[in-house]
Amino acid sequence: MNLTLNRKITLLLAALALGILAALLAISLYAFRSLSIASSQTHVQTAAEIVRVLLTESMINGVINKREQALERLRQIRNLHSVRIARSEHVNRQFGAGLAREMQSDEIEQRVLADGLPRFYLLEDHGQPVFRGTIPYIASAQGRPNCLECHQVEEGTVLGAVTIELSLEDLRRHGIYSVLAVLLAVALISTLAILSARRLILPVGATATAIGEAVQRGLHGDFKTHITERTKDDIGQIAAHTNRLLAFLDQGLSSIGDRVAQLVGRPPQQHENQLQATIEMVEALTEATHFKATIEEDQTATEIYIRFARLLRERFALSESSFYEAAEGNQLTIVAVDGQIGGACRWCQPEIMVRSDLCRAKRSGRPVDGLRQAEICFAFAPDTNTEEPYRHYCIPLIQSGAVGSIIQLIVPEARCGEMIDQLPFVQVYLREMTPVLEAKRLMETLRDSSLRDAMTGLNNRRFLEEYIEPLTAAIRRRNSRLGLLMADLDYFKMVNDTHGHDVGDAILKELAKILQTSLRASDLCVRFGGEEFLIILQDTDETGTLEVAEKIRERVASYRFQAGTSVLEKTLSIGVALFPDDSENFWQALKYADVALYRAKLDGRNRVVRFTADMWEQNGACY
Ligand code: GH3
Ligand code: MG
Ligand code: MG
Repeated sequence: MNLTLNRKITLLLAALALGILAALLAISLYAFRSLSIASSQTHVQTAAEIVRVLLTESMINGVINKREQALERLRQIRNLHSVRIARSEHVNRQFGAGLAREMQSDEIEQRVLADGLPRFYLLEDHGQPVFRGTIPYIASAQGRPNCLECHQVEEGTVLGAVTIELSLEDLRRHGIYSVLAVLLAVALISTLAILSARRLILPVGATATAIGEAVQRGLHGDFKTHITERTKDDIGQIAAHTNRLLAFLDQGLSSIGDRVAQLVGRPPQQHENQLQATIEMVEALTEATHFKATIEEDQTATEIYIRFARLLRERFALSESSFYEAAEGNQLTIVAVDGQIGGACRWCQPEIMVRSDLCRAKRSGRPVDGLRQAEICFAFAPDTNTEEPYRHYCIPLIQSGAVGSIIQLIVPEARCGEMIDQLPFVQVYLREMTPVLEAKRLMETLRDSSLRDAMTGLNNRRFLEEYIEPLTAAIRRRNSRLGLLMADLDYFKMVNDTHGHDVGDAILKELAKILQTSLRASDLCVRFGGEEFLIILQDTDETGTLEVAEKIRERVASYRFQAGTSVLEKTLSIGVALFPDDSENFWQALKYADVALYRAKLDGRNRVVRFTADMWEQNGACY
């Protein structure tokens, strides 16, 4: 059973009060009984002494025969239940038999007469408490008159006994009244104590309950609870601190929640656990960032598509999908179907492959929501042989200002509602994926183009002219930069002159390999002129660019080129500039790299020189 603090304390105090009352009752009754017996004994002894004096005086005054009347008078005293004399054999022998009642001693009296010891008993007479005492009269030579003056017995002989019975009814009544008064007082004080304790405890219990409820609501993402500050003491302080904490959490959650919701593109839903929703959104953003970091390292766009298909399967339990890419002349190509690379068009009419404008997502450049509107796209043609009805959601990915890829999610009809909730999370991943995909596709196009230098296999200058536009546009969009290295072999003419043109060619081929193996997949190496090479590093910074340049210079300088039977050592001079840091114009930045190269040659060759503005002022006229 769950008892509140208030109830627990009330029950504890009530049990304590009842215990005290019971103990008090028992102690009072015991004390009252002991007191009654002790005081009754004293009274009986006093009365016995009075009777003895009365009898002695009656003997002296010769009215001993009237002793029964005197005793009768005594019996009329309130609460003196009975007074009875018992004579011993010694007295009977000396003075003859006494009155009839005096001769009929009972068993107790006989024992007292026999041993001279008083005896006391608490009796019940017709429901009334009676205290009986039988006190012996013992002959004594002490006192006045001296017993032995009249009684011819030895000192210490038991002459008789008096039995006195006192009614304890009055005493008992008073006792009960007193005990009741005490109990009543204690009960009253206990009740007041319980009520006061409750008054003190009530805010503690109420505040604890309110905090408990606030925590429960907090667990459901609602921190708007306000806890009433009932008192000005520690409990009030706890309530105030808790309110401050709740307000802080509420503010924090709503500001984080709003921003995260904006980032995810998912407005807060009513009646949902805001905290849970925010945690899920932050997790999704974090996962998407990790996803981006992973795909950036991927070699090709295909690898990225495969990774995304796996993500759809594992994170969103979607194993069916189609990925398309826009191709030359109003065509689409299939990248992957249901996570498998290539394959035939499974979820749409195949006509879209040759007439991409039939694809609604490609045509409009906007998501096509077949989850909410099943019939929205005429090209959607799921396999009708499957038992389960399917819906679709197509997302165009904009690359270089046009629809570059289309991601088609295939959702079983039964999971439509759930997927509609999950769409913003899918979009988060796609948002991260799109620029990386764009960069990879661009790189692939660059690599695969026929515009290559036949001898070295590197991209040539014309190729650069053709593709520099989309490359720089993507860099601007990503807010990133390009590192430009203009490299030229030192004293190369000498090689030709000394070893012949073929050896020169072989060295150039060897050098191209060295350069390519020194670069990342996303970097670009262009044969810019005869023995002049342009290296373009993507998404780097000044330090990174200079490090790569220095690494290349060192590798070439330490490389042993094979020239027939002899071995040649060649060095490289490198000029470095950064786009768009040095110039917003790519070609101008390239000129700056060339100026830096010129400076490297002037300064003695075999070195890396970073372009500075003063070089342009000094040598700009040459360009
Ligand atoms: P430096 O650059 O250090 O100032 O001296 P350099 O001797 O290298 O001078 P420069 O760059 O002016 O000379 C370029 C030479 O490269 C001229 C040409 O004979 C040679 N060259 C250019 N293209 C080729 C080629 O395709 N094959 C061969 N074998 N030689 C080439
Ligand atoms: Mg040269
Ligand atoms: Mg040259």
